[in-house]
Amino acid sequence: LVDMPERELRQLAQMLIFEFSQQAVARGGQAIFTDLNIYWEIPRHFRDVDAIGPGGQYTGKKYGDYLKEAQRFAKALFEVYMEGDGAGRPFFFPKPLVHITDEFFNTPGHEEFLHLICEVAAEKGNTYFVFDRGSTAKISECCRLSFKLNEADLEEARRPWKMRYCALQNVSINLPRVAYLSEGDTTKLFDNLTGFVELAVRAHLEKRAFIERLLSLGEKGPLALLCMDRDGEPYLRIGRVTHLIGMVGLNEMVKIHTGRELHESREALKFGLKVIAHLKLLSEKMSQRYGMRFVLEQTPAESTAYRFARLDLRYHSPLAAHMVKGDVSKGEIYYTNSTHLNVSAPLNPIERVKLEGLFHPLIEAGAITHIWLGEHRPSAASLANFVEKVFRLTQNDQIAFSPEFTTCIDCARTVRGLVDRCPYCGSDEVEGITRITGYFSKVSQWNKGKLGELKDRFRNRGFFDGPELKAANL
Ligand SMILES: [Zn+2]
Repeated sequence: LVDMPERELRQLAQMLIFEFSQQAVARGGQAIFTDLNIYWEIPRHFRDVDAIGPGGQYTGKKYGDYLKEAQRFAKALFEVYMEGDGAGRPFFFPKPLVHITDEFFNTPGHEEFLHLICEVAAEKGNTYFVFDRGSTAKISECCRLSFKLNEADLEEARRPWKMRYCALQNVSINLPRVAYLSEGDTTKLFDNLTGFVELAVRAHLEKRAFIERLLSLGEKGPLALLCMDRDGEPYLRIGRVTHLIGMVGLNEMVKIHTGRELHESREALKFGLKVIAHLKLLSEKMSQRYGMRFVLEQTPAESTAYRFARLDLRYHSPLAAHMVKGDVSKGEIYYTNSTHLNVSAPLNPIERVKLEGLFHPLIEAGAITHIWLGEHRPSAASLANFVEKVFRLTQNDQIAFSPEFTTCIDCARTVRGLVDRCPYCGSDEVEGITRITGYFSKVSQWNKGKLGELKDRFRNRGFFDGPELKAANL
């Protein structure tokens, strides 16, 4: 990128995004889930690392010497995101994750860059804001999955090809089920939680044994790709994988047990925190017991939030019928994702980010708060203000702003908001687009549970441009 003319740089950024957004070799023709971890500064773990250039050759410089080029390219990427695809739709992948760090605010030009990425967040919603406070370094991917880098990982950053991470499996716990089974008895509830975690761990052990058996067949086996050894160890280092323990429906669990939802009382919120702290403690205990890494993750739960609700309706009615969210008569039912607050609660975004952020330090492998914008388009300046406040004044790990779009299949134009008819040509051949969980997708592909959630989502109309944000000091 050194001395590359603006036009070519832009072209390269466009190619990168375009090619990742088109790779449809994964299941069902869905594009591969890809992420770009972007920093405005050169992150500390790369600064003094020998840079690799074209043809895999060392350039003789360190990555820290390429700050200017990296910043130019980061800007070019966001200019491409801003335009969207040919029909003006947001690119679904690769997701741009911008790490907001102390260094970010100490690096010249950050105001302008923050404005640009907030402009993209307001216009197309692409930007994810990942908050790395203090000396935290992490790599983020998937819906919210993140890998905190420890000493050994940071040492490996000297040889960037070593930075290969893997979460072998996520096993999710149906928290409302735990509450139904405990019938209001708190001791029983925590015992049941322990039992469920033990069951999840057993599932992990079985999967791990199975995968290890396949891996033992080496390059002649079905996992040959993962066994290839080009740098003194196999591509997949099984000793270093993590095993995720996820959770769904904390909000409903707390309601079943205490009578209130998380946002309705301090006691309910505190009880929720106690449950997640208990899960964290258990995962640490299990890690010690088995010599494996078990960590908590917010399950994205595109389908699990629906499936758990349906199963409980079958096995725990009539109580479950009052507890599941959505429209029971239409079958559009769901549980609230992970540790999120009720999506329909009319909380202002600051409250939501702050309260949901209380859970994030307990969930090492990734958490996110969604701010649903609907058809509203806030100004970049107010989002930038908001992002900085979230970094400085909350414990929240990651936020994303999600607008909604409708794209017309007949005239290929895109408008803001979810509508039934194209305002340009009047066609009803339209497709809604917004985030299902951690990523954008077409609403027509969603299951009934997520459709129910979509109807319930509280859209933050007006907040960002009103006096509330200015006044807020969290
Ligand atoms: Zn149209």
